[in-house]
Amino acid sequence: MEQSKIISGRAYENVTTTVKLKGKDVKVHALSIGTVAVKRNFKIKNGAGFLSKINILLGKEYTQYLPIWVWVIEHPEGLLVIDTGENAESLDIDKYLAKESFFAKYQFKHACKVKIQPNEELNHQLNKVNLKVDDVKLVILTHLHADHVDGLKFFPKQEILVGNYEFTHPDNCFTTALPSWFNPKKVDFVQNRIEVFNQAYPITQAEDLLYIPTPGHTLGHNSVIFKTDNFDIIFGGDSSYHQDQVIKGEMAGANVDYNKTKQTYKNFLDYATLRKTIYLPTHDENAGERLANKKFLV
Ligand SMILES: [Zn+2]
Repeated sequence: MEQSKIISGRAYENVTTTVKLKGKDVKVHALSIGTVAVKRNFKIKNGAGFLSKINILLGKEYTQYLPIWVWVIEHPEGLLVIDTGENAESLDIDKYLAKESFFAKYQFKHACKVKIQPNEELNHQLNKVNLKVDDVKLVILTHLHADHVDGLKFFPKQEILVGNYEFTHPDNCFTTALPSWFNPKKVDFVQNRIEVFNQAYPITQAEDLLYIPTPGHTLGHNSVIFKTDNFDIIFGGDSSYHQDQVIKGEMAGANVDYNKTKQTYKNFLDYATLRKTIYLPTHDENAGERLANKKFLV
């Protein structure tokens, strides 16, 4: 892994766009925090049931290096960060996951390869768009996988929000690598809060930012919907690896429940027929470009 430490993870550029919220300009940033190549069978399901999981470990072919996007909203109620990206310490897997089981380390080593340097981490990318870690009011986590939580180290003072089910039933989460102080606010959903998804947790007082259940990748996986004046943005986490997977109904191999993912895909598409929706998964190469050019899911 030594070599990875000197390889840049800056294959994707940060993107900043402006949306309207109650007539006022609000900046939304896509920050690129390292890159990850996953086994092809991790990104695209190969084989039925448990075989698809075995094929992730046995497969030889990797995808190209994919982005790890962190989303930042300069919301009137405070600066919000959705997921936190990777960190460079995680490249030394045996040290970083020292307290995890042999099998957990084996799985990680045989599923993905990460590239990031210390000066490419979230604090530096925030600085590049004239923001500071200390300005962040709230961190929202879609789920607890390493490449979404490894930047938590920057936020010991901030409120962190995660779904109650994801926190109490994490799937493939390296809990021993989480910061010792990690004690997020665990939220449950309120019924009848949004079309199609039905349940949501209102993140902002204005209820223009909603946390919604999008299970499948993990059982407690959630996404964030930002309802702007002219369209909605869904920050989809790992609901899919690419927008095309939702459109084509293609399953990722990395799924805890394929049937739940099927329903989650349907919900995204149904919602996008009701409201103009930009869909932004964490590892989609084109997500930054779709945000900048306001390209909708359907
Ligand atoms: Zn994940």
